Amino acid sequence: GEGVVILGGGQGGFQVAASLREAGYEGRVRIVSDEPGLPYQRPPLSKAYLKGDAGVEQLELRPAAFYADHRIEIVTARAASIDRTARQVRLADGEVLAYDHLVLATGARNRPLPVAGADLDGVLYLRTLADADALKARLPAAARVVVVGAGFIGLEFAAVARALGHEVTVIEATLHPMGRAVSRPVSAFFADAHRAMGTHLVLGAGVVALHGEGGRVAAVETTDGVRHPTDLVVVGIGVVPNAELAAEAGLAVKNGVVVDEELLTSDPAISAIGDVAHYPSRHAGTEVRLESVQNAADQARNVAHRLTGRPAPYAAVPWFWSDQADLKLQMVGLAGPADTAVLRGDPASRRFSVFRFHERRLTAIESVNRPADHMLGRRLLAGTPRLTPEEAADESFELKSLLA
Ligand code: FAD
Repeated sequence: GEGVVILGGGQGGFQVAASLREAGYEGRVRIVSDEPGLPYQRPPLSKAYLKGDAGVEQLELRPAAFYADHRIEIVTARAASIDRTARQVRLADGEVLAYDHLVLATGARNRPLPVAGADLDGVLYLRTLADADALKARLPAAARVVVVGAGFIGLEFAAVARALGHEVTVIEATLHPMGRAVSRPVSAFFADAHRAMGTHLVLGAGVVALHGEGGRVAAVETTDGVRHPTDLVVVGIGVVPNAELAAEAGLAVKNGVVVDEELLTSDPAISAIGDVAHYPSRHAGTEVRLESVQNAADQARNVAHRLTGRPAPYAAVPWFWSDQADLKLQMVGLAGPADTAVLRGDPASRRFSVFRFHERRLTAIESVNRPADHMLGRRLLAGTPRLTPEEAADESFELKSLLA
C-alpha cells in the first residue's frame, strides 16, 4: 500500500503521524510541509518565543530523531493538486505521491489587511516561525508599534511589546476586544488590563489606510480621520482556511473543508482536521471551524484511531488558552453570542471565571487566573453538566461536588 499522506506539518499534521504510530499503524506515513524545518508549535510565537524566553528547539514538537525512529517521512514541499481518481497528490516541483488515505491539515493563513498601503515595508503578520523571526528582527528599532485587531494574537503581541518597552497602540474595529470569542465581562476586563499596562486602545475604529514615508509605513489612518504615527504595524485580523486544494479537487468547502462527524470529507479516502476543517460540533450544536491546538490535536487523534480500526464520532470538549502579561485566560466549551454570562469571583482580584449558559444549560467557562475552574469545566462539559446559574455565581457552592 501507499500508506497515509498528510498535507501540512503543523500541530494537526504532526499529531496524525505520531498517533498513527502510537496506534500501531505499520504503513508508510508521509508529512508534506511547505515550511522549512521540523513541525513546531505556534502558541509561543506570540508569547515566550517573541519575548526571547524560548528558542527554536523549545518550539519543535519532537526532535529529528523522533521522525526517524517512528518512520515518519517529512517531505518539504508545497502540495499543488489532488487527483482523487488516481489517489495522488502532485507537489509544486512536479513530484507525485500516491496515497491510500489523505489527511488535509493545511491550517489557515493570515487574512491580509484590505486597505491602501498594506504592502508598505514595516507591515507584518504573525502566523509562522518566519513571521515571528521577521518581527523579532524589526521590533528593537521600532519605538512605536500599532497593532491592527484586538484578537488573541494582537493582544498577546501587544502585551509582549509593552513588556519590552515599546509604545503600543491597538486598533480594533469593534468595541469589544476578543469579542467574537469571549463574553462581554471578560472582554471589558482585558481592555482595562491592557490600558493599565500602558497600551493605547482605540476601539470602534476601523483602519482605512496606511501611509508611508520612503516606502516604509509611518502612520495608520482610522475611520475617524485620526492618523496614528508608527514605526511598525502588526496585523492580526483573523485567518483564511487553506481550503483551495480541496475545493479544486471538487470536495465540499464552506468556511473550510466540510467534514462529517468522523472528520471525513465527501471522499472516503480523504479526511480534514484542525484550522482547515469545518465540522459538525456536538458542543456547539452546529457546524464550526475552530482554531486551537486542542482542536487540531484531538481531531488528529480521532482520524488516526479511525484509520487503525477504531472509528468514533469526534466529540472532544473544545478548550483554548491565551497568555497576556500575567493574565492566563482559559476557555472550555463553546458559547453562543447570546448566552448569558454569570460571574464567579471578583475581576478586581484578577482571578475570576465567567460561566456561560444557554437556557440555563452550561455551555462554556472562561477563566482568568483560575485554572481549577477550567480543569473542572473540562470534566463537567464532557458530560451533561447539572450546574445552575445560581450555583455558578455562589462561591460557597463547591463545583467539585458536581463530579461526585
Ligand atoms: P497549522 O499549525 O497552521 O499547520 C498547517 C501547515 O500546513 C502549515 O505549516 C502550512 O504552511 C502548511 N500548508 C498549507 N498549505 C500547504 C500545502 N499546499 N502544501 C504543504 N503544506 C501546506 N492555539 C491555542 O490553542 N492556544 C494558543 O495560545 C494559541 N496561540 C497561537 C499563537 C499564534 C501566533 C498562532 C499563529 C496560533 C496560535 N494558536 C493557539 C492556534 C494554533 O496554533 C492553531 O490552531 C494550530 O496550529 C492549528 O493546527 P493545524 O495543523 O490545523 O494548522
